[in-house]
Amino acid sequence: MDFGLSAAQEALRRRCLDLAADFATRSAAHDRDGSHPIENYDRLREEGFLALSVPRKFGGAGYGFLDHTIAYEALGQGCPSTALAFNMHASVVNPVLESPEISADAKRMIADYVVRDRRMIGGNFSEPSTTSLVGERPLATRVRRADGGWRVTGRKMFASMLEAADHVMVLAYPDGATVSSAGALVLIPRGAPGRVVNANWDVLGMRATRSDQLILDDCFVDDAAILLRTDDVRKFRYAYLNWFWGSYTAVYLGVAVAAYDELIRMMQTRQPEGYAQSLAWHPDVRRQVAQLSAELEAARLITYRSAWLSDTKGPTAETTVALYRAKFVVGEAVSRITRVALTLGGAHGIFKGSRMEQLFRDGALAEIQPPPSDFCLWNMGLYELSLDPAEMLPPMKPV
Ligand SMILES: Cc1cc2nc3c(=O)[nH]c(=O)nc-3n(C[C@H](O)[C@H](O)[C@H](O)COP(=O)(O)OP(=O)(O)OC[C@H]3O[C@@H](n4cnc5c(N)ncnc54)[C@H](O)[C@@H]3O)c2cc1C
Repeated sequence: MDFGLSAAQEALRRRCLDLAADFATRSAAHDRDGSHPIENYDRLREEGFLALSVPRKFGGAGYGFLDHTIAYEALGQGCPSTALAFNMHASVVNPVLESPEISADAKRMIADYVVRDRRMIGGNFSEPSTTSLVGERPLATRVRRADGGWRVTGRKMFASMLEAADHVMVLAYPDGATVSSAGALVLIPRGAPGRVVNANWDVLGMRATRSDQLILDDCFVDDAAILLRTDDVRKFRYAYLNWFWGSYTAVYLGVAVAAYDELIRMMQTRQPEGYAQSLAWHPDVRRQVAQLSAELEAARLITYRSAWLSDTKGPTAETTVALYRAKFVVGEAVSRITRVALTLGGAHGIFKGSRMEQLFRDGALAEIQPPPSDFCLWNMGLYELSLDPAEMLPPMKPV
């Protein structure tokens, strides 16, 4: 068992920490304005991050899922929104390039867009009415055959970096399909006719992800834009849960690290009048910090191990439950660390523009970000008790 980072992983981590230090200088402004961190995306683009995890056979840098996890933990410490939104690119590009269900032509096109043209691709599967609380999520957005291509109509929601990305990969229901599990993956360019953005992302945290609403009104795309059409899209989604869902865990781990570091800095530098020592010497502070350090380290190890399992064993049941466990534990750690840090920082830390105030709000989304904590526990419980999900009753009365 080797817990050390390889030289390549350590170099990648250092590079990402340097980028994060730069992004941190503009993070509060983007958070306040709810603006796209375009210059951060450009920097990541220049530094080759669009192709970081693209397999070498497609011309990418070929870093694995654990490498990606280490990188995004570091990036998340600077500007959490930048890391979370930019991760959307890898979270949809990697499944497409890795899946045997995607044609060689579609893979080549995506690889060329990403590696050669350095195009950034967002992903939008969510819709206003979807919820994972009741199991499968039906798709209201439809794609249908049209003269010389396809037309997509529907309302999507929560599309991170929508206006900044060159394309958005959308999940839609193919017209004429007969089963509810059918789905089509459609690549929509920024300028496609019938594509409108409703800029409604004025939210509590991760504000600079600008996860706006996407309205598709008979939006036209050509044949090549249909990357996948299947009667059972669940296979594709489940096989790449590491990218679709697991890749966000590292960003929130980064938020936990940033909040912890900020707490340490505050406690080491605040020296109350009439005392010769900083607040770090207070026994209650020391005890709280000690507890948080244990929680943070546990979250990091559990996350790294889930990523290592994903790289070495693929999408087994063991890997999937490990990814859920990691997301759950990181969610708990972020909530605890940001809460305690805000409390110990006191009223000095709650002003707008304070790093701690922003990390508290960004961190508040950790347990909500898919897969949400309750959803993780639901699946972990089934796995631990060897229960077959097909045997479960619906949680509420169906119509
Ligand atoms: C910052 C941010 C960025 C995002 N970016 C994108 C994006 O770029 N593209 C995109 O497509 N989507 C994106 N999303 C949306 C996301 O993927 C979800 O689909 C979306 O949030 C819809 O689900 P919901 O949050 O309403 O939660 P729901 O699924 O309705 O869940 C709400 C709550 O119900 C409980 N719950 C849910 N499922 C279960 C279960 N099975 N068992 C027990 N309890 C359960 C949990 O408490 C959960 O928090 C983003 C979300 C966030 C927060």
